[in-house]
Amino acid sequence: MKRPFVIGNWKMNLTLVRGIEFAKLLKDSLHGKDGIMCGVCPPFIFLKEICKILEDSNVCVAAQNIHSEKYGAYTGEVSALMIKEVGCTHVLIGHSERRHIFHEDDSFINAKIKTALSVNLKPIFCVGEMLDEREAGRTKDVIRNQLVRGLRDVRADQLKEIVIAYEPVWAIGTGKTALPEQADEVHSFIRNTITNEYDKNLAKSIYILYGGSVKPENAKELTDQSEIDGLLVGGASILFESFLKIIEVVSKG
Ligand code: PEP
Repeated sequence: MKRPFVIGNWKMNLTLVRGIEFAKLLKDSLHGKDGIMCGVCPPFIFLKEICKILEDSNVCVAAQNIHSEKYGAYTGEVSALMIKEVGCTHVLIGHSERRHIFHEDDSFINAKIKTALSVNLKPIFCVGEMLDEREAGRTKDVIRNQLVRGLRDVRADQLKEIVIAYEPVWAIGTGKTALPEQADEVHSFIRNTITNEYDKNLAKSIYILYGGSVKPENAKELTDQSEIDGLLVGGASILFESFLKIIEVVSKG
């Protein structure tokens, strides 16, 4: 049985002062508790400070994005090497806001995943369908394409380091959560796709998180589903009390 993994995406929210306060509170609240794995994704400019606070804790730190190149003339971008140097262990890649607001495509996402892996950063690889795609009965095609294209040339030993997050775009920041059974069905499809592309044991061991309007009230019923290994939380991760509550309700001891 896997320990649930809950990770909070702060997006472009909080201030450095509030982020530091949040990280200290989280570290203290989770001290000695090993029934859960947990993490936060602060904005770039907070990462160094937050990593320092959470250094010897059971809370990991992820960046919200990286560029696909390790260094070079890419004004305004931040590289995997920089993220790694300040202490991040994970990075979000392919978040729906990156795909849809910043027009990132599958091949760019694939390049970022490979770059992250090459510097020992663990990608949290996000996939998810839009509302019109679900309504047209295309959810599985969309998810399969995102997975296959995003993981092109990623070896099985590298896939072990990746966390997948299923985030239906229609559920992100909308207050509309996927029904637990709806989410579980897609998670199961993701595992089958990984089985077909790699192998069954790997598919079984890989973490697949659900994201999309998760709150303390629905967290438990989502993680009670057999294929849901944890949660990627946006809006409800910005308030310390609600994020801690989510962690507490899904914690296995
Ligand atoms: C997210 O940003 O990954 C997310 C799931 O957001 P929210 O929880 O606010 O829907």
